[in-house]
Amino acid sequence: MTDELDPHLQDAYTEVLRRNPGELEFHQAVREVLGSLGPVVERHPEYTDAGIITRLCEPERQIVFRVPWVDDAGRVQINRGFRVEFNSALGPYKGGLRFRPTVLAGTVKFLGFEQIFKNALTGLPIGGGKGGSDFDPKGKSPGEVMRFCQSFMTELYRHIGEHTDVPAGDIGVGGREIGYLFGQYKRITNRYESGVLTGKGVTWGGSQVRPEATGYGLVYFAEQVLAHRGTSFDGRRVVVSGSGNVAIHAIAKVHQLGGTVVACSDSGGFVVDEAGIDLDLLRDVKERRRTSLTAYAEERGIEHRTGSVWSVPATVALPCATQNELDAADARLIVDHGCLLVAEGANMPCTPEAVDVLREAGIAFGPGKAANAGGVATSALEMQQNASRDSWSFEHTEARLAEIMRGIHERCLTTADAYGTPGDYVAGANIAGFTQVADAMLALGVI
Ligand code: GLU
Repeated sequence: MTDELDPHLQDAYTEVLRRNPGELEFHQAVREVLGSLGPVVERHPEYTDAGIITRLCEPERQIVFRVPWVDDAGRVQINRGFRVEFNSALGPYKGGLRFRPTVLAGTVKFLGFEQIFKNALTGLPIGGGKGGSDFDPKGKSPGEVMRFCQSFMTELYRHIGEHTDVPAGDIGVGGREIGYLFGQYKRITNRYESGVLTGKGVTWGGSQVRPEATGYGLVYFAEQVLAHRGTSFDGRRVVVSGSGNVAIHAIAKVHQLGGTVVACSDSGGFVVDEAGIDLDLLRDVKERRRTSLTAYAEERGIEHRTGSVWSVPATVALPCATQNELDAADARLIVDHGCLLVAEGANMPCTPEAVDVLREAGIAFGPGKAANAGGVATSALEMQQNASRDSWSFEHTEARLAEIMRGIHERCLTTADAYGTPGDYVAGANIAGFTQVADAMLALGVI
C-alpha cells in the first residue's frame, strides 16, 4: 500500500495534496485507493485520457453552513454543518451524517470519498456523499438534540432529495436524530418524501434490518472470508472495538454464528468478559443510559481497563469504532496472537502502517469499503421500499443483505484475481469499486 505510485496517479495525488491542505484523513483515503490502481491505469489508458482520477478526487459539490441553535440555558450555540456531494455517476449521492466534535471538512471529505467505492461495490444504484457537523450529542438534552437537528435541516433541506442526495446516520446520528431531521424536512417542504433520508423508524418508512445492517453485514462478510479459508466463526474468540451501533450488531451476529465476543471498547477504555459480552446489558448501558462501559464493568463485577483492546487475544478482530483507531503497534499485537482475520466495521479504522503489518504477516484483511458496506446497502433497500411504497419482512430483507455481502466478497476476489493480486481484498475492493464508477463517468462525458 505504501509502494510508489504510477506517474499519472502520483500527479493526481500531488494535486489532491495541493488543493486540500492539512486534510490528512482525506489524503490517506485517496492514497489508499490510488495505491491499488496502478495495474488499472496501465490496462485502461482511456481512464487517464478522460481525466477520471483527477475528476474523482474533486467532489462534485461541497456545502458548508452555519448551524445556530439555543441551548437549554438560553445561550446561543453555533456549530458548523457539512455535506460533501462527491460523486453521482451511479445514482443520487448517498452516505451518512456524522455528529462529533472532531468533524472537520477533511473528515467529511475522506468519508465521502470512501463512500463512492463502497456504494459502487454494493452493485446498487447509489452515488457517494457524506455530511455532518462538529456538534457533540454527548451530554445534550433530548430537546437540545432536537433543536440542533431542526436547525441543521433548515439549511440542508435545499440540497437533498430522493433523486438528489439521500443522507442517513453515522457516528452520533441514529434513529432519534433521523426522526427529527425527517420531521423538519417534511415540515419545511410540505412533502412526505420518504426516500430523502434512510435509517427511518420502521413504522414511518424505515426498513427492517437497517439498524442491524452494518454489524450483521460485517459478520456475513467475515464469515465468507473464513469460509474461503476453510473455517468459520464456530467456537472462535472475537474482539470488537467500539460499542456503538456497528459493534452491538456485529457482536449479536457473531454470537448467533457460534463465536464468542470477549471484549469491546469505548472512548474511555474496554472490558473483557470471558463469558461473552452480555448484549442486553451492553445495549442498556450504551443505547438507553447513553453512558460509559464503566457501568457495564460495575454491573458484571469485572475490571474496566484502559489501553489497547487489541491486547486481548482473539482469532478474529473487528475494529468498529472510528478512523485510525488501530495502529501498527496494535497490528503487531494482533499478529502475535495468531489472529486469522481483521475486518473493518468502521470507516478506515486501520492506519496504512497497520494494514502493511497485517498483510505482511499473511492475515486476511477485509477493508471497510467491502466489509462494512451492509449498512449503506440496506439503506438502498430502504430507498427501494420507499419508491415502491412497500415494506419487506425482516427475513426477506436480511436474506437480501446476506446475498449482497456474498456478492461483494465474490467481486473482491474475482477482481483481485483478474488484476494479478489473488486473495487481496484491498486491491479487489478498490479496483472493482473504481472501475464501476469510472466506466459510468466515461459514458456520461466530461461533467
Ligand atoms: N454511515 C454508513 C456508512 O458509513 C451508512 C450510510 C448510509 O446508510 O447512507 O456507510
